[in-house]
Amino acid sequence: MKIEKNLEEFESLGDEHIGTSESTPMRHDAFRLSNEEKIDIIKDDVRHIMETLGLDLSDDSLNGTPNRVAKMFVKEIFGGLDPKKKPSASTFENKYKYGEMLVEKNITVYSTCEHHLLPIVGKAHIAYISNGTVVGLSKMNRIVDYFAKRPQVQERLTIQVVKELQEVLNTKDVACVIDAKHLCVNSRGIRDIESSTVTSEFGGKFKEEATRREFLDYIKLDTKF
Ligand SMILES: [Zn+2]
Repeated sequence: MKIEKNLEEFESLGDEHIGTSESTPMRHDAFRLSNEEKIDIIKDDVRHIMETLGLDLSDDSLNGTPNRVAKMFVKEIFGGLDPKKKPSASTFENKYKYGEMLVEKNITVYSTCEHHLLPIVGKAHIAYISNGTVVGLSKMNRIVDYFAKRPQVQERLTIQVVKELQEVLNTKDVACVIDAKHLCVNSRGIRDIESSTVTSEFGGKFKEEATRREFLDYIKLDTKF
């Protein structure tokens, strides 16, 4: 049975920031065009938006904006749509036999809300318990950054980070908490400047109360360096 949603329903889904799927919804022909071809098309689209808004693009300050935005979309803020940019899965053997929880906290998150295309800015905290494999610490930052560089829903970002690390580390014992501000909430709409959104995903042993509590206690520590 095909479920049809009218435009109004889609509008309110977006406004409530409800994502509809766990993986990023991609078109089947997503990679038919090269990045350079995409930049070329998007450049014209951005120009069209700006001109429709009434801006005079012959002004020196605005002249380069369409090209700059197009390059930024394809290569930077939405660069994580390109699977070729996925961080390589290099892992190490856990030589020290460290069997406790490893926590990497305060990983900077710069993402973009897929419902308004406005920034999501926050911190990710990740933990895992090694079953013999470890990853370099910077790898966790790179995985967060890769999935953040897409139009996102914070819940999906959290799940994607956990799933990727579960795969790389070959264990279910991975957890991630993301605490982030959504500029679409903070700067427009209801303009709630102070609020932030916390999402979490707990895999394997992190579903157990004691393990989950240990992780949450670590990330509560207010370390400033
Ligand atoms: Zn939004």
